[in-house]
Amino acid sequence: MTKRIAVYPGSFDPIHNGHLDIIERCRPMFDEVVVAVLMNEEKKPLFSVEERIEAIRGLVGDTCRVESFSGLLVHFMDRVGGSIVVRGLRAVSDFEYELQMALMNRRLNGRIETVFLMPKEDYIYLSSRLVKEVFALGGNLQGLVPEPVLARLEQRLRPAVRA
Ligand code: ADP
Repeated sequence: MTKRIAVYPGSFDPIHNGHLDIIERCRPMFDEVVVAVLMNEEKKPLFSVEERIEAIRGLVGDTCRVESFSGLLVHFMDRVGGSIVVRGLRAVSDFEYELQMALMNRRLNGRIETVFLMPKEDYIYLSSRLVKEVFALGGNLQGLVPEPVLARLEQRLRPAVRA
């Protein structure tokens, strides 16, 4: 039987507990999960793609492959032999965009299906953008962002406070 390889794509700038929740939920569903970190330098990410990959690898260990990609997701899927895209669905607001992406990806490659997973309710409002904004303003993100990521945020966003 062919291996069921799923790809979980995103910016992960930075990874937070909502992302990790989705990874933990999808891991037992497939033979292999590849976390695919989008190279989006033009969007001025807080962390470089290498830093994001290093942070994710530190958290998921050898349970998943972690790789970067740019360009079309369907081309990356071909390269890694993936046939399932995993996406997290938070609120109704995610749905319209996700539906468009899923149908376009299927149109580009009829072999690809997209699977949506809902996170634990505690993480339903969490996004990387909110994490960066709240952290920069001094908010407490314990329980929403893993400790090693909080340490990286501290170095990047509050260097003056530490000095
Ligand atoms: P973010 O919106 O946090 O910047 P990404 O662009 O990195 O996230 O998203 C990667 C994937 O993770 C998307 O499918 C997104 O819907 C999902 N995701 C993001 N945040 C959460 C969350 N809190 N719970 C579940 N899924 C999430």
